[in-house]
Amino acid sequence: MPKEADFELVTVPLPEPREGEVLVQNIFMSVDPYMRGRMSEGESYIPPFPLGKALEGGCVGRVRRSVGARFREGDLVLSMLGWREYYVSDGTGLIGIDPSLAPVQAYLGILGLPGLTAYVGLLDLGQPKAGDTVFVSGASGAVGAVVCQIAKIKGCRVVGSAGSDAKVAWLLEKARVDAAFNYKKVGDLAAEVAIHCDGLDIYFDNVGGPHLVAALGRMKPFGRVVLCGMISQYNVTRPPRGPGNLILAIMKRLTLRGFIVTDHLHRRQEFLRDMSRWIAEGKIAWKETIVEGIENAPRAFLGLFSGENLGKMLVKLGPEPTA
Ligand code: NDP
Repeated sequence: MPKEADFELVTVPLPEPREGEVLVQNIFMSVDPYMRGRMSEGESYIPPFPLGKALEGGCVGRVRRSVGARFREGDLVLSMLGWREYYVSDGTGLIGIDPSLAPVQAYLGILGLPGLTAYVGLLDLGQPKAGDTVFVSGASGAVGAVVCQIAKIKGCRVVGSAGSDAKVAWLLEKARVDAAFNYKKVGDLAAEVAIHCDGLDIYFDNVGGPHLVAALGRMKPFGRVVLCGMISQYNVTRPPRGPGNLILAIMKRLTLRGFIVTDHLHRRQEFLRDMSRWIAEGKIAWKETIVEGIENAPRAFLGLFSGENLGKMLVKLGPEPTA
């Protein structure tokens, strides 16, 4: 488990933007569980953060100065240059965002990669049909809460697991799932899942470990297990035991599929179209946990591993745009 002392806050001179460049002030930055993987040197789909350099991650900011660049002063932009208050860029990798759809920080959550992860993970890999039963772990988080609600839109019965009573209440009242439970208060996870449904057509796994074992035990024949994340294992210090009941994948003819959202960016336009419609129709609720100030970014990041967040965990770095 990383600790705050592993992070260093440094002040460096800001270069002047040159011809074709912009100076951007970040407004919100995202902290995400995958960043933990970039803090280790093990095998991964993405290289580790270099030591002694500013970290990276999703953020939204406002262009403060533009020197003949494609973005103009006042424009709102999405970039991967988080973990800093300001930056100068030649525009590579910057995406303009439309603040009329939702508040700007939504582009780091419901309208951003967490939302897209939920969308492609559930719809493309999980292939839900009306009447299916879907179990979601990490259900009140940035990804999980969206999975639950897209599954409801598709006519599924949804059971969610989360780590506090407040999260369970939010899932039942705002995300309108059919059943939810606080896994920290449950002795036998498989028995708890069985209380809420006859069997699972889809398990959307955000946490791995005991949740995955429990879900495998409750899957229906030909069920689909979407392997999105295994946050319960990101800080382990010795290799975790595999699911002892994996043989059920054969007996029940299950499909287990892992995925990485960045392989599915071609779905972004359809996702934005559907999600903005669902938001406009009031079909999707979302929540954010906002920590103020770059000095508190490490605390926000570490809080992901102790469940400090309900919905998307964000760090506010600068003034929000006025309407
Ligand atoms: P969340 O907003 O869900 O935040 C993390 C949450 O994980 C915490 O709030 C906590 O909630 C829960 N958690 C932490 N430790 C444990 C544990 N030991 N056991 C069970 N739950 C735990 O994060 P995201 O929505 O951004 O990410 C959710 C998952 O999806 C992560 O595993 C992440 O790595 C993965 N992911 C995968 C992507 C892909 O491309 N495959 C893309 C984006 C995310 P609680 O209080 O409920 O315990």
